[in-house]
Amino acid sequence: MSMARLDRLRSALAERGLDAIVINNPQNRFYLSGFTGSSGLLLVTAAKAYLITDFRYTEQAAVQAPAFEVLKPESTDLALLAKLLDQEQVKRLGFESDYLTVDQHLNYLGTLGGRELLSASGMVESLRLLKEESELALMRRAAAIADQAWAELIPLIKPGVVERDLAVELEYRMKKLGAEGLAFEIIVASGVRSSLPHGRASEKQIEAGDLVTFDFGAIYEGYCSDMTRTVMVGEPTAKQREIYEIVLEAEQRGLAACKAGMTGLELDEVCRSYIREKGYGDAFGHGTGHGVGIDVHEAPAVSKRGEKHRLQAGMIVTIEPGIYLPGWGGVRIEDMVLVTEHGCESFSKSPKGLLIL
Ligand code: ZN
Ligand code: ZN
Repeated sequence: MSMARLDRLRSALAERGLDAIVINNPQNRFYLSGFTGSSGLLLVTAAKAYLITDFRYTEQAAVQAPAFEVLKPESTDLALLAKLLDQEQVKRLGFESDYLTVDQHLNYLGTLGGRELLSASGMVESLRLLKEESELALMRRAAAIADQAWAELIPLIKPGVVERDLAVELEYRMKKLGAEGLAFEIIVASGVRSSLPHGRASEKQIEAGDLVTFDFGAIYEGYCSDMTRTVMVGEPTAKQREIYEIVLEAEQRGLAACKAGMTGLELDEVCRSYIREKGYGDAFGHGTGHGVGIDVHEAPAVSKRGEKHRLQAGMIVTIEPGIYLPGWGGVRIEDMVLVTEHGCESFSKSPKGLLIL
């Protein structure tokens, strides 16, 4: 784990006038420390970095988080935290107000009284926006695993096969290729179900004449990938071809436009305006994309909410326009890309021309 992350966090603390921050969010904990255990909290001050975790994880934590002093509480985490705050003379403590439960917050107020508890919502998330080279390497690998698993799945997609079986095959292949988990539950939506943007794989059999949407991603060493492909089983109708080509063109326009300096809203509008021009604006009801990293959905927003999210070189976003027509079906195509100064680089390499199986 790079010290650079702790240094950037400390600069952010100083900017907000905080003496320290306590981290409970597991993704932020992993980002800052490298610790992957299921339980533990971090305390970072201007000079010190502590990781409080229990007996199950102390040995692992010492290996994974060398930049942190690993401590095991004698009674509760909070009692130890209070002791450290006294020792470090912390008066203004930042906490993750967007993560703590109301109960946890009340406990903090009760136990850590006498000092200011201030929201540090989004502070670590904003550090996570710009990926380091080491993170990009993991995300390239996560995307390559998904691409390879997809190539292996294609021959299995045929009439009579159940959606859920295809999801299981895809999961198995990603894990065989080195994924430690799924970035999210695999979406397989065929025929009329493909109008469900997030249709979970069901017991439905694939039938000739179905468009089938697959949305999936791997986790590799803590980092996610995310991609979507839609294929045609049997001969497409003119309308199926038309909808597919519109979505593909919208996606290609998004890829061609994406670069540092534009806002998430502007990139969203590139895809959205094309689909609107073609008469299907109302059938594209979700955002064009989202950031990806340790979380499969993170900042920046590439959507109507992305007005203040300016893309910078080193961010990872998806571009995933779709058209969904209830009772008919739908198409979505998604790539995960690295934003660069003058464009973007797609980490998803799978072909996108209409695949007729
Ligand atoms: Zn996706
Ligand atoms: Zn996505």
